Amino acid sequence: MVVGGGICGMQAALDLADSGFKVYLVEEGPAIGGRMAQLDKTFPTNDCSMCMISPKLIEVAKHRNIEIITNADIISADGDPGKFKVKVRKRARYVDEDLCTGCGSCYTNCPVRYQAYLNAGSAEEGR
Ligand code: SF4
Repeated sequence: MVVGGGICGMQAALDLADSGFKVYLVEEGPAIGGRMAQLDKTFPTNDCSMCMISPKLIEVAKHRNIEIITNADIISADGDPGKFKVKVRKRARYVDEDLCTGCGSCYTNCPVRYQAYLNAGSAEEGR
């Protein structure tokens, strides 16, 4: 299990998965990507952060050894190295993830407004 779906957690999950381990990538937020997905450019090279992270997002999402668990909290962790038992609480998403096609229709038609998660609560309002 890798806790945290930012760039470090994603790379750790990929390294483990490529080594043949089944990986549960647990993220408390609604999506993986972390801070890097919120940035425009990265220091010190001024590279586009989405250009760097996007291939990894796809690689993680499509890797057969990685199961992504978002909107989730670690409730407890017991055991010893190599044999941990972890209790994870997954918060309701109110959407059937197996049926959702990502069409965006609910986003455009929803009357409820929240501050944009990805914009870290900036003036731009999300839904
Ligand atoms: S309206 Fe589209 S994006 Fe929204 S939950 Fe349904 S399938 Fe998914």
